[in-house]
Amino acid sequence: MTKVAPPSKFKEMAKTGRPSLTPEQVQERIDAYCSRYEVSELNDAGFPIFPAGLRETQQHREWIALYQLFNRARKRSGGTMGDGAATRLEGCPVCLRPVRPPGSRHDECETAVGLIRKLGPESVDRIRAAAFPDHGRPVVGTKRRV
Ligand SMILES: [Zn+2]
Repeated sequence: MTKVAPPSKFKEMAKTGRPSLTPEQVQERIDAYCSRYEVSELNDAGFPIFPAGLRETQQHREWIALYQLFNRARKRSGGTMGDGAATRLEGCPVCLRPVRPPGSRHDECETAVGLIRKLGPESVDRIRAAAFPDHGRPVVGTKRRV
């Protein structure tokens, strides 16, 4: 993860005055949410899907707060200067982080996709199990030995 945005660009953003989150900061919150709750499903806008069945939980509350931040940041950047929004929406489809040119993939993400493609669709579950060994929830269809 390398930040390549030149600091000189920030001069143009000084108009808003109010301290508000940039799309990048919102994205960091989203990433944090996803890793904290092990959420991997995202909707078309790159936002974590609604935590169905988890109403009134901490995760649900965080999701709501995050959703409001997300919408606010998107409206703000989408209305006037479309660059931030476009970058966000056309981020890398694998990790959802901003990427240049928009819509392409990072080298490391492309490598991951290439590996999974080589191993086949079922490898995703095995990779998940290898990556998160503490996450003991059995995959659907797996029989637990007693
Ligand atoms: Zn990526």
